[in-house]
Amino acid sequence: MIRVVFSRTLLGFNRLSVCHYSSAAIPAPNTQPEVHYKKLFINNEWQDATSRKTFPVINPATGEVICQVAEADQELETLDNGKPYAVAYTVDLPNVVKCLRYYAGWADKWEGKTIPIDGDYFCYTRHEPVGVCGQIIPWNFPLLMLAWKISPALATGNTIVMKVAEQTPLTALYVANLIKEVGFPEGVVNILPGMGPTAGAAIVKHMDVDKVAFTGSTEVGHLIQQASGASNLKRVTLELGGKSPNIILSDADMEDAVEQSHFALFFNQGQCCCAGSRTYVQADIYDEFLERSVERAKRRVVGNPFDLKTEQGPQIDQMSFNKILGYISSGKREGAKLMCGGEVASDRGYFIQPTVFGDVQDNMAIAREEIFGPVMQILKFKTMEEVVTRANDSKYGLAAAVFTKDIDKANYISNGLRAGTVWINCYDVFGAQAPFGGYKASGNGRELGEYGLENYTEIKTVTIKVPQKNS
Ligand code: NAD
Ligand code: MN
Repeated sequence: MIRVVFSRTLLGFNRLSVCHYSSAAIPAPNTQPEVHYKKLFINNEWQDATSRKTFPVINPATGEVICQVAEADQELETLDNGKPYAVAYTVDLPNVVKCLRYYAGWADKWEGKTIPIDGDYFCYTRHEPVGVCGQIIPWNFPLLMLAWKISPALATGNTIVMKVAEQTPLTALYVANLIKEVGFPEGVVNILPGMGPTAGAAIVKHMDVDKVAFTGSTEVGHLIQQASGASNLKRVTLELGGKSPNIILSDADMEDAVEQSHFALFFNQGQCCCAGSRTYVQADIYDEFLERSVERAKRRVVGNPFDLKTEQGPQIDQMSFNKILGYISSGKREGAKLMCGGEVASDRGYFIQPTVFGDVQDNMAIAREEIFGPVMQILKFKTMEEVVTRANDSKYGLAAAVFTKDIDKANYISNGLRAGTVWINCYDVFGAQAPFGGYKASGNGRELGEYGLENYTEIKTVTIKVPQKNS
C-alpha cells in the first residue's frame, strides 16, 4: 500500500484558508463554467466506460442537460448541485480545505502502542491500512463528502475507488485532474461516475475491496451491509438518514432560536442528513415561535443559485422534487396545519417554496420520515421528560439540538438523547476535528476527527520474545 502525504495545493484552494467571508470577498461566479472531465478516472488516466455508455448531468435550476457526464471549473458545484454559489464558496469549499489539511497532519501521527503484556515479550501494535477502500457518496455535498472520505483514507495509507453520485459527478472529476496534476501515484485514487445499482453495487460486492464507506439513504445502507455479508465481510461504515429533533425550551433566546431552527431545517434546500426536521417547541412559547418561524420562512430568498442574495436554490432533481411535494400533500392530508409555502416556486427547475407545518403530531409521515426538502415540522411539548421520550421515538439517531439558557436542562436533555451529535444553542456546527455519525439506523462508524482514522486502519499486534540470558 502506498502512503500518500498530501500536497498543500491539492485543490489549489490555499487562498481559502481564512474563515471569515464577507460577501464582498466572494468573487463573481462564472455561471457557465466549461466542463472538461467527463470520463472515468482510473490509474491517473481518463477512460471510457467499457460499455461506452454515458449519462446526462442535469442543471437543477433549469432542468436542462449540462453535458453527458463530465467536466469542471471551481464553480461547478453550483451548476451541478443547485446550491447557492455564496454557500458553496463560503461553507463547502473552506470545509473541504480544512478537512484535507486536518487529515494531512495526521499522516505521520497515527501511532501504535507498546503494550506491557505478561512474560518476557515485547509487544507493540502497528496501524496498517485496510487496503482498497470503496467509497460511495451522495449529491448533497459533493465536494465535502469527497473530502470527508478521501482524507482519512489517504492519511492512513489506503487506496480508493470512489463512486460519486450520478447527479453530481463534475467537481469530483475536476479534483481527479488535480490529483493527477499534483503527482499522486497512479491507482491511489480512482473516481468513477456511475449509477448505484451497477457501479455502486459492483464495488460493494467485489471480493478485492476491503472496506466500503457509504453516505446516502438508509435503504441503500441496508443493501450495502447485506452485500458485505454475502461477499467477503468487507468493513462497512455507513452515514445514513435522520429525523433529527431540535428542542426549544421556553427560556431560550427567542430570536436566536427561531433563526437557528430555520437554518437547521432549510440549509442546503433542506437536503441535509442531519437537518433539524422535528422542531419541538415548549407549550408556553409555541404560538410565538410558530408565528416567527413562518415570518422567517416567508422572507427566505429563493432563486438563481448564482445570485449572491439567494438563500435557497432548486432541489437536486425531478425525483426528489416529486417526493417532497408528495410529503407536503401527505402533511395536509394527515391534518397538520400548513402555515406557509407548500407550492412549486417557479415554472422551470426544481424550486419549492419554503414550507412550514404547525400542529404536527408524532405519528404523521412528515414527522417520522426523512423529507430531504424545505419543509419544516413544528411540534408542541410540555415537559422535558416527555420531549426526550418523543425525540428518541425514531428509528434514526443522527443529530439533535437543544435551545435553553439553563445548563442543567441542556445537560439533562443532551444526555438523554440517543443521537451521535447534540448541538446546544447552535446547529450544524462541524469541525474536521470532531467526530460525526449516527446511532441506530442513522449508520455506524464515525467520520472526522481522530475517531475517523479508526475506520481506515487495521491493527496488527506484534509480539517478540525477549531472551533473558545471552546465549
Ligand atoms: P441513494 O442512497 O440512492 O444514493 C447515494 C449514493 O449511493 C449514490 O452515489 C448512489 O448512486 C449510490 N447507490 C444507490 N443505490 C446503490 C446500490 N444499490 N449499491 C451501491 N450504491 C448505490 O440516495 P438518493 O436516491 O440520491 O436519495 C434518496 C434519499 O436518500 C434522499 O431523499 C434522502 O432522504 C436520502 N439521502 C441521504 C443523504 C445523506 O447525506 N445521508 C444523502 C443523499 C440522500
Ligand atoms: Mn437512490
